[in-house]
Amino acid sequence: MLLKLSAPCLCLIACTVQFTCSILATAQAAPAPAVPNPKVVLVSIDGLRWQEVFHGADPEILRNSQFIRHADQLAELPTKPQQLMPFVHQTIASQGMLVGDRRRGSAMQVSNPWHFSYPGYNELLSGYPDPAINSNGKIANPNVTVLEWLNQQPGMAQQVAAFGSWDVLPYILNTERSKLPVNAGFAPMNEQMAGTLTPQLKLLNQLQRQTPSPWAAVRLDVFTQQFALEYLTQKKPRLLYIAYGETDDFAHDGQYDQYLKAIRRTDGFIKELWQQLQSDPFYAGQTTLLISTDHGRGDSANSWQHHASGRAIAGYMKKLKHFGNGVSGSDEIWLAALGPQIPARGLVQTQQPWSQSQVASTVAELLGYDYQAYQYKAAAAIPLGTSSEATAQLAGRGSQLPAAPATDTSASAILTPQ
Ligand SMILES: [Zn+2]
Repeated sequence: MLLKLSAPCLCLIACTVQFTCSILATAQAAPAPAVPNPKVVLVSIDGLRWQEVFHGADPEILRNSQFIRHADQLAELPTKPQQLMPFVHQTIASQGMLVGDRRRGSAMQVSNPWHFSYPGYNELLSGYPDPAINSNGKIANPNVTVLEWLNQQPGMAQQVAAFGSWDVLPYILNTERSKLPVNAGFAPMNEQMAGTLTPQLKLLNQLQRQTPSPWAAVRLDVFTQQFALEYLTQKKPRLLYIAYGETDDFAHDGQYDQYLKAIRRTDGFIKELWQQLQSDPFYAGQTTLLISTDHGRGDSANSWQHHASGRAIAGYMKKLKHFGNGVSGSDEIWLAALGPQIPARGLVQTQQPWSQSQVASTVAELLGYDYQAYQYKAAAAIPLGTSSEATAQLAGRGSQLPAAPATDTSASAILTPQ
């Protein structure tokens, strides 16, 4: 990953992020889940901008031939939101919730001061920004992630696993200490993690070994996907984390057409994942899907390739110094959620941006655990909606709850519902 490096710096700002208490949500610590035996699949799509998620391809970037690898295929590119992420816009938007469309009064952001990957994944998974995580180096994370903590809780032992395309993921999850089963980078699936290898896993190992990757530290997401699906079938973890990576690397490479194709593929991976979950009685109707990203990217045709804060640029990322105080937009992220505990709110409007640091507590809460009771630094869970409302919604599937504005009344006057 081209820019996945950084230099030591000090934290300047501790972002205090408040979140919107919607009219559908009531603050409460780890309420009983709305389903008897809940499971969670957490997905991240590295460096995918909210601009493409909600509004499709940027026409100005498309017009710049330097960003198009295969100009002869331009007409075939998925460009509209429904073409680019059909599962997000057809299924999640109508049955779940979305946050992060800043043009429609919905915002989410990272709280860490760096705006690149390791600090973002640490915040996402540990529940708080750690300014000392200031590098993408292969350094064992000193912080305990919600995955590691949950794996130690009653009923969750051996019930957590992670798959990723970037070879730094095992360090972010500190597998030495956490003992979490993690398959990432170019690692083949081994018997220690999967048990006796199925023919499918043997073939995947062979294909991965024989397939070139454009990048030294990131494999093609298809391997992450297929290893994860096979593990899901065989081992049935209650919490699965999948970290896709292609989007960020194609963006750093300045290949907007390949970035768009990667977004389309990833949406298809998530649809495939969701269909597998719904076809398995262990997961069907019991599983919540959360999807987010580690950081945003530049918000213009000149900056979309990059992401870094001003502090990061002042340190290691000096080659981005022409961006001065940082690549604007790098802290802007998004989130999608779908499942029996998620009311069908559609786009949720926010008076204050939601924070990446809220995701860890949310994962625990969906599984019935109170992460903040263990980690006081972790931000509160995202107000997804009360379990009783989710239960009511479950009973009423087919007569969907309205994709309500679900916003603070104080904010509603200035915001446009989806
Ligand atoms: Zn990046």
